[in-house]
Amino acid sequence: MAKLFESGEDWETRKDRIIGLGDRSFHKSYYPQLRQNLDRLERFRTLIDHTSDFVILIALPEGIVVDANAALGHLLGESVEKLIGQPLASLELLDVTILLADLRLDMSALNTSVETPPHFLVTEYGCGEASIWLELSYRVAMVEHVCYGVLVGRDFTEHKLAQDRIKFLVHHDVLTGLPNVLLVQDRLQQAISLADRNHEKLALLVVDLDQFKTVNDTLGRRVGDQVLITAANRLRECLQGTDTLCRQGGDEFLILLPNLNDPDASVIVLSKLMLGFLMPLRVDDKELTMTVSVGVSMYPDDGADFDTLLKKADMAMYRAKHDGGNTYRFFNQEMNEEAQERLVMHVGLRQALEKGEFVLHYQPQIELDSGHLVGVEALIRWNHPELGLVPPARFIPAAEENGLIVPIGAWVLREACREAVRFQNAGLSRLVVAVNLSALQFKRGDIAQSVRLALEESGLAPELLELELTESILIGDTERVLSTVMGLKEMGVKLSIDDFGTGYSSLAYLKRFKVDKLKIDQSFIRDLAHDVEDEAIVRAVIQMAHSLGLQTIAEGVENKEVLDRLKLYHCDEIQGYFISRPIPATEFVTAYAPSHSR
Ligand code: C2E
Ligand code: MG
Ligand code: MG
Repeated sequence: MAKLFESGEDWETRKDRIIGLGDRSFHKSYYPQLRQNLDRLERFRTLIDHTSDFVILIALPEGIVVDANAALGHLLGESVEKLIGQPLASLELLDVTILLADLRLDMSALNTSVETPPHFLVTEYGCGEASIWLELSYRVAMVEHVCYGVLVGRDFTEHKLAQDRIKFLVHHDVLTGLPNVLLVQDRLQQAISLADRNHEKLALLVVDLDQFKTVNDTLGRRVGDQVLITAANRLRECLQGTDTLCRQGGDEFLILLPNLNDPDASVIVLSKLMLGFLMPLRVDDKELTMTVSVGVSMYPDDGADFDTLLKKADMAMYRAKHDGGNTYRFFNQEMNEEAQERLVMHVGLRQALEKGEFVLHYQPQIELDSGHLVGVEALIRWNHPELGLVPPARFIPAAEENGLIVPIGAWVLREACREAVRFQNAGLSRLVVAVNLSALQFKRGDIAQSVRLALEESGLAPELLELELTESILIGDTERVLSTVMGLKEMGVKLSIDDFGTGYSSLAYLKRFKVDKLKIDQSFIRDLAHDVEDEAIVRAVIQMAHSLGLQTIAEGVENKEVLDRLKLYHCDEIQGYFISRPIPATEFVTAYAPSHSR
């Protein structure tokens, strides 16, 4: 039979010892009676010694240990006997001052026969790594007119650690260990109260890493994670102890700068942040240049609560990004109006397609050597019932944000192909129509299917359709993009890179994606005749393109001087206001079709 008692006795032996029975073959039904006969105290002692909670009985009001169970001995690693007669304070388990005060108070209440509820306490015992947490309840008890304090406790460490971990996870980002947005919200609330009291301001900063997506896409998630950790450390180094840094998600961080007595104080921190990212980040023995775009909103000027301040700092951050990144912007009213307009765009765009409010305008592309019209770029406009003809820069970003660019882009393809056939029928037989594609059409839409459908429906020969891609499309999810682009090439359509020179301008992808043409961005063309740097870039791009067997077209040619320069550099084609602005299809036919010659 198993040993049941601390002394090592089993039930049979103990029973014999206690009630003096020699007969070991008594029936089970005697047990209840036997138990009754057991000394009550002995039974109680056994129970107490077998409970995993520790129990301490102290004499009141002195606080001397009268008794304790085996669990306390296990916890302290010494015999319970040694503790008996010692003051409770000598156990060093807990700070007994408050505990004894509570018990003494309850004791006097007990004297006036008021039942007192137990007290609860969670406390740390020991220090450092070896420390444990105890959960304790204590109350007074009267036994035969003597007052005792009864303390019952247990090792709470595992529970406490799990609780702490949950609390940490709720308020922190696992990857960087930084607080998350919940904690910042909390801190902002406190900082606002303090700022009000001291008549100070505070700033909320949204910090976004400029090149993170590229790093993540090209070097993989693991490196991406390392970059985030390193960037978080870099940000931390730029801040003071009172500032709060948190990861809001993705590559976006929030910084709360409290106690600003003038707004310029935040500029010092902002300059520090910008300088902090001048040095490349070291990740896996690689040096990565990372810059940040920062948006700032101020309390109380820009808002009185977290959501408003965050929204405005976000707008300012987008403005910083829009202005080329690696900079900061303070929120201002103009940004608010822009955001307001974006909202109007979002709402209106949903119906614009169904209502047929989009139109395409066409801008001619001229071969420089011959002066012949060789192509035309289809450029979308929104014929808004109230706003009039809205240029694409005002609604394409919104359409990209809400994904509507996918169906809109598909419509552009069908419409442009349909019109191209009309141009052919009007006598412009070898005219290539160029259509702009958005990165989202590659990512979310089935671009190959849209192109196939547009060609089939219109009957346009594939070689007369040119798709204008941006560099950002090609550096994305490379393998998938590569197979999509290859599929398009196999269909026989032409490919060009729009706004060339403003992105990564990588030679590798030009070869890999077998593009046909580079469209040199207008920013290099505008001052070509007067800016030596632009001149050098344009000449280099043309030479490089030619040596790779690619054609070149210059966008944004506005005067004869620029045209002449481009001729000198052997640029193949030009497009720009000097030739014509983008015009409606009918006007285009009237102006350029041989049968409509002026
Ligand atoms: P983009 O593809 O680079 O188109 C050239 C832009 O430059 C056009 O602006 C055109 O009107 C303008 N432009 C042409 N020649 C000159 C010039 O000599 N001087 C100046 N200052 N500007 C000139 P637009 O039509 O406002 O289009 C802006 C951008 O919107 C386009 O830039 C393109 O990225 C985008 N876009 C236009 N249509 C579509 C479309 O159907 N789908 C997509 N995804 N994007 C489109
Ligand atoms: Mg274009
Ligand atoms: Mg362009």
